[in-house]
Amino acid sequence: MDAKTVASYDRPVPRYTSYPTAAQFHGAVGPVQHRTWLPDLARTCSTVYLHVPFCARLCWYCACHTSAVNRPESLASYARALLKEIDLVADTVPELMVGSVQWGGGTPSQLGTANIVDVAKRLAARFDRRCGSETSMEVDPRFCDDALVTTMRDIGIDRASLGVQDFDIDVQQAINRLQSVDDTATAISRLRTAGIARINLDLVYGLPRQTLETLARTLDAAIELAPDRFAVFAYAHVPWMKARQRLIDPASLPTAGDRAAMANLVAQRLVDGGYVQVGLDHYARPTDSLATAAQHGRLRRSFQGYVVEDQPAVVGLGASAISSLPRGYTQNAPDPARYRTLVEAGCFASVRGLELTAADRLRGEIIERLMCTFSIDLGDVCRRHEIPLGSFMDGITTLPALVEDGLVRRDGESLHVTARGRPLVRFVCAAFDPHVAYVDGRHSRGI
Ligand code: SF4
Repeated sequence: MDAKTVASYDRPVPRYTSYPTAAQFHGAVGPVQHRTWLPDLARTCSTVYLHVPFCARLCWYCACHTSAVNRPESLASYARALLKEIDLVADTVPELMVGSVQWGGGTPSQLGTANIVDVAKRLAARFDRRCGSETSMEVDPRFCDDALVTTMRDIGIDRASLGVQDFDIDVQQAINRLQSVDDTATAISRLRTAGIARINLDLVYGLPRQTLETLARTLDAAIELAPDRFAVFAYAHVPWMKARQRLIDPASLPTAGDRAAMANLVAQRLVDGGYVQVGLDHYARPTDSLATAAQHGRLRRSFQGYVVEDQPAVVGLGASAISSLPRGYTQNAPDPARYRTLVEAGCFASVRGLELTAADRLRGEIIERLMCTFSIDLGDVCRRHEIPLGSFMDGITTLPALVEDGLVRRDGESLHVTARGRPLVRFVCAAFDPHVAYVDGRHSRGI
């Protein structure tokens, strides 16, 4: 990426895991809407995302909804709230069918194996899993012992996502996360031996003290571990939103030019290593379901990143979890204590959200297609949404500048993101987002 492009696009832009983004959620949507909208899911196959907002200790770079909680009583009471929320959902929509189940966090294993088994049993008892596909869990390799792996196998986990971020010791010290290659290799070996064969690794670029050389070494070591998928995210330095990031010295962060070069290095190294780029920041072996979904136009974008299209609705369980329902989005209280109090009182814990309008659905489809396939037939989408293409495009005022900068090419009624524009696809999406000007301070930088 040339210096002029880097300078022009080194500014905040949403990640577009949804449209409208979570920045647009508001408190007028809450438990009433959640309870009313859930029954729309009857007899369709949905995903369950279950959030555990606890870790043994905190990494300074992390922007997840999580806190360091180790007290067994706190963990057990959170698990009891999850059981109650599962019951609330199952009572509200008894015909819910659950395809994939994703345990995320935080660190799900922090819940403890006994609590994990209780929650898994309740999920199995209350939800119809006949359309079941994957059951995945995020894993911290530093805490992946035999007991955890046995529990994961016993509750049917068949994909594990392991957080790595970076293997360089200087970088690890700067983010307060010491984790050797051996820790990660041992965890992967344990998981594979137990039959949990699908392995994802998460890496991050743009971290403090990271250089192209350290990143190249990390990528080589990670490829050696032969996971099925990589997710490689750009570090989002948002200390005004995540207080723990104030412990990171801003002077130790790579420049925008370095970050652009790092993104390029990641793509080159992983593609040379036999992976196919999927969307903006995922990589998968050519035979992996994510790669084949991308190849056949079945890739979707969700709050969990890129996913295979077959279960568009997501039921979020746990503190801060977001549900993506046919009529809109709802989000649970981020504070675990508030979440517990609400659920224990027999209420849904939704505290904010958004009801989708017809215009949101049109713009959401365009943005999702751009994020997933880098091209869109605008004429086709507008006709299906019964909106005249001409008047719609009159409102997309920033598109000509993106065309002029070579990020995107118009071909009749279609739009194609160019190879040069792919790393900046979020800016192409932003052209279709009328809210973006009002929320700039809340997003990470686009490079
Ligand atoms: S990166 Fe993972 S282990 Fe570290 S604080 Fe975030 S969720 Fe916890």
